[in-house]
Order: sequence, then structure tokens, then C-alpha cells
Amino acid sequence: MAILYLSSPERRAVWQPILSAALPDLPFWGSAEEVLDPSAVRFVACWVTPDDLFERYPNIELLISVGAGVDQFDFDTLPENVQVVRMITPSIREMVSEYATLGVLALHRDLPQYLQQQHQQHWQPQPIQLARRRRVGVMGLGQLGLAALTALAPFGFQLSGWSRSRKEIAGVSTFAGVRELPAFLAQSDLLVCLLPLTSETHGILDEELFAQLPKGAGLVHCGRGEHLESDALLAALQSGQISSAMLDVTNPEPLPKTHPFWAHPSVILTPHVASETDFEEGVEFCVQAIQAHLSGSAVPGLVSKIQRY
Ligand code: NDP
Repeated sequence: MAILYLSSPERRAVWQPILSAALPDLPFWGSAEEVLDPSAVRFVACWVTPDDLFERYPNIELLISVGAGVDQFDFDTLPENVQVVRMITPSIREMVSEYATLGVLALHRDLPQYLQQQHQQHWQPQPIQLARRRRVGVMGLGQLGLAALTALAPFGFQLSGWSRSRKEIAGVSTFAGVRELPAFLAQSDLLVCLLPLTSETHGILDEELFAQLPKGAGLVHCGRGEHLESDALLAALQSGQISSAMLDVTNPEPLPKTHPFWAHPSVILTPHVASETDFEEGVEFCVQAIQAHLSGSAVPGLVSKIQRY
């Protein structure tokens, strides 16, 4: 058996020696050209899959994403025997919780407005809202939503979270499922999106959702670009239903130069940098996943092929 690695040369330079040292009996093939025996490929590590992956390599058992998400994979074409694994690493949690905190504090303390005023050389203090009077709602209570809530807790915000299944989290009001979404939204002055992209969450940040937020709410979006209906956000910003937004992800990426978000005074934009996968941690995680799979124990990061996250 062997692993087929299909990602950047920079990542390979870190991955190959670590993986080969940890799993010396597992050949590391760094491209399709290096594959000596297609039937021996049991593990594939990549971001996007080539179209013919499963025809070429019929014995793949684990498809390992080199990033935190798996929405780039086409689950409809996955053969029965292939399991999907996503990255769960400390640094992704650390970086995303930093970003969520950055976004929440930026909107909480009116940074978009002050950036605009600075460009206009306009000295105009705004009233300051106390954090303990500000309600922050996090959509998605997985590893990243939980990390964001933990990072936000010391500031004293009123915290809440929304997930598919019910959760109990100390210091956080929790809401579950579509039925409780309106109640969750109605009490979210600052909304943070850390959902995975699935058929259920595609386009979830739309006109209907924005209308259910308190007037003048803020949006911190660090999920996926396809969660957001851009025109709905622009309309909500125009009407004042949303006061400001910090967006790390857009649809498409990169955002076209003509898109109104670039110059919008109430939008702060970053180029999908809430986190990146640390190469060393990534390969260590990959090794753990393969070892667990080989020993028949629970594979970390295993994705539900039904829920698709
Ligand atoms: P997890 O799978 O650990 O958690 C996902 C959470 O979302 C769970 O709480 C889940 O509910 C909830 N959820 C999923 N579908 C629904 C739904 N239909 N309704 C309500 N809640 C739902 O994911 P992670 O925390 O690891 O990552 C979340 C996402 O963050 C990634 O998929 C990716 O899109 C994004 N991300 C963005 C990055 C960036 O750089 N901008 C970097 C890394 C990740 P339940 O707990 O009930 O299953």
C-alpha cells in the first residue's frame, strides 16, 4: 500500500520526510507520474481531486483533505470504500479564533466607520457600547465555533451559538436546528459564521436571515464564500439592517476587482486568511489518521458521508 500526495511542492518538502519517517513501509508518491502501482494507492492527500482519481486508483480507502474543509470534494462521485478526512489541528483553531475575535472586536468598536473617517480626516468619536451589553452569536459549534467562543469569552460579550444538534456549553446560550434559528438570530447583535458549506448551508446568509437580526447587526463571515448572498448583504448594508461586515471569504475568490465590496465603507475584506494549514501539523495529523485507520481505531477528522461535514 502507498500514499499519493497531490499538493504543492512546498508542502511536500515538509510532508515527505516526516511521513516517511513515521510510516517507513508506506511509499510516498508525490504525483501521478511517480505512482509505480495504481492498485497500491490506499491513501490520497490533496485539496481538490483530479476528475479520474477513483478510476485510476480503485483501492483508495482514505481521501485526506489538506485543509479544514471538505466542501471542495464531490461526495456524489465518492466510491463506497472511500472515507473522507478533514484536518483538525491546533493552529487552525488558534488562527480562526484569532480572526473571529479580530472581526468581532473590529465591528464592536466601529472600526469600519473609523477607517472611513480616517480617510476623510474626520475626527468624530462614536458612542461606545459595553461588551457585556453586546450579544455575539456564532453559527456552527464545531471545533472552530467552539474555539471562537472560548476566545471571545474573556471580553464579557453575551455569547450564543447555533448548531444542527443540541449542545450544552458553559456560559453560552445554545440554539439548535432550523426551528430555533429565528430565536438565535433575533438576539445576535454580531453574527459570526463558522459553518461548513453543505447543501443545507449554501446561501444561508441571505435576505431572509439578515431580516431576522436586530437592526444594525454586524456580520463576521469566516465560513465559505458560498454561504453568503452578496447582493442581499449589499441591500442590508444599504438599508442599515446590517451596519457593517468583516468578510474573509467571498464568492468567487479572488473577488473580481469591480465588486462593490472592495470599496464599500462598511465592509472590511480579507483574502481567505482566517487560517492556513501549518505543514508540519498537517502531516502529523495525516500520519495519525492513517495509523488509526490501519489499526482499526477511530480515525480523527472522519467526515460523515451523509452530513458531508
Ligand atoms: P465542524 O464540522 O467541526 O463543525 C461544524 C458545525 O456546524 C457543527 O456544530 C455543526 O452542527 C454545524 N452545522 C453544520 N451544518 C449545520 C446546519 N445545517 N445547521 C446548523 N448547524 C450546522 O467544522 P469546523 O468547526 O472544523 O469548521 C467549520 C467551517 O469553518 C469549515 O467547514 C470551513 O467552512 C470554515 N473554515 C474557514 C476557514 C477560513 O480560513 N476562512 C479556515 C477553516 C475553516 P453539529 O455540531 O450539530 O453537527
